[in-house]
Amino acid sequence: MSSTHKRYEADGDKVIRLKKECERCGDAVYMAGHSDRWTCGKCGYTIYKRGRKAT
Ligand SMILES: [Zn+2]
Repeated sequence: MSSTHKRYEADGDKVIRLKKECERCGDAVYMAGHSDRWTCGKCGYTIYKRGRKAT
């Protein structure tokens, strides 16, 4: 039935706090954490954590 949804919510509640979801891909797609940014391995979307440095 909805066991998949149930399990996702239970796990997601913990995981989401540590990882960041991709704003483009939506739920269940997490972004890889780097020292200064988050990057989505699926669509390549990048979010800079803080302090924009022009390179
Ligand atoms: Zn993405």
